[in-house]
Amino acid sequence: MEIKKENRQWLDAMNLAHPIVIAGPCSAETEEQVLKTAHELKNTDTNVFRAGIWKPRTRPGGFEGVGAIGLPWLQKVKEETGMLVTTEVGNANHVELALKHGIDILWIGARTTVNPFVVQEIADALKGVDIPVLVKNPVNPDLPLWLGAVERFQTAGISQLGVIHRGFSTYNSMFYRNKPKWHLAIELKKEFPDLPLILDPSHICGRRDIILDVSQTALDLNYDGFMIETHIDPDKAWSDAKQQVTPADLQKITENLKIRQKSSSKEEFQLKLAMHRKELDLIDSTIIDVLGDRMGIAKEIGKLKHKENVAILQSGRWSDIIAKMVEDGKEKGLSKDFVEEIFRAIHVESIHVQHQNK
Ligand code: PEP
Ligand code: MN
Repeated sequence: MEIKKENRQWLDAMNLAHPIVIAGPCSAETEEQVLKTAHELKNTDTNVFRAGIWKPRTRPGGFEGVGAIGLPWLQKVKEETGMLVTTEVGNANHVELALKHGIDILWIGARTTVNPFVVQEIADALKGVDIPVLVKNPVNPDLPLWLGAVERFQTAGISQLGVIHRGFSTYNSMFYRNKPKWHLAIELKKEFPDLPLILDPSHICGRRDIILDVSQTALDLNYDGFMIETHIDPDKAWSDAKQQVTPADLQKITENLKIRQKSSSKEEFQLKLAMHRKELDLIDSTIIDVLGDRMGIAKEIGKLKHKENVAILQSGRWSDIIAKMVEDGKEKGLSKDFVEEIFRAIHVESIHVQHQNK
């Protein structure tokens, strides 16, 4: 896949002074709710109004969207506020209806991106139409699957593209609703720097209080903008109530974001430096996370060995581990001394943890 500057014309042509802001309710509920939210958003940094018309709920019984009757409400939003409008399409029929009602931008939901058959069906339904399509990451952390969906649209002749990072579902996530796994988006950004990358902090956070923080991380990583769920009365929303914010709170979030301007080569340097530092911070947190998990397993082994009365130090196994890690490290360009030093330290701590957990 080749992504060029032309593929981001839809965004560049807007000539925005700040990252793009796509905002609006998770779901269109009533005409009044849609229009009220849109009129309040008109006075914020919002550039594009979003609302889900067809809602892919994980289990039946939840609110599955108002369906096609909501499309004229979005048309009204456009006429009355001048904002562009976007909605999620999940099959060829949605595409046909959305196009008939003048929707400006389409997005592909996380549960659709996982299914190449459906993505292809939607791409085929778009043949001959060149409307911007934004592809959300699949629910599972699979970069080729995400890129594969973008590729299907490109092959079908869609030239205006973008991706939305909405996080990845995990079993039992406490802090986030969907873990960001930033490294996947960083990898994507590195490989396709011209492909617009938009953060959806609402579905990552699943709650309001950390939206600003998560959005700032994205800005520091040079994302192009945000899609943030916004509702006139969030607590009463028919879907995703906990994560939606009021238009006034959305404005507070966008005003509090520290946007770094790039105007000189020196600032460009500062910007890149800040971005790489952020990447390092995220990797360092991952290292701590993984080491914590590793020591957790060492604890269990300590208990097992104690029960069976087996010696904790099994030096043969450790020489094998270190030899294997030195080999793996070579492939990553890591020196033998460095890898040995790290794994010795891990070994010492591991023995210590096992002793403590007899
Ligand atoms: C949404 O944007 O409301 C939505 C359903 O998102 P996702 O596909 O990311 O779950
Ligand atoms: Mn939602």
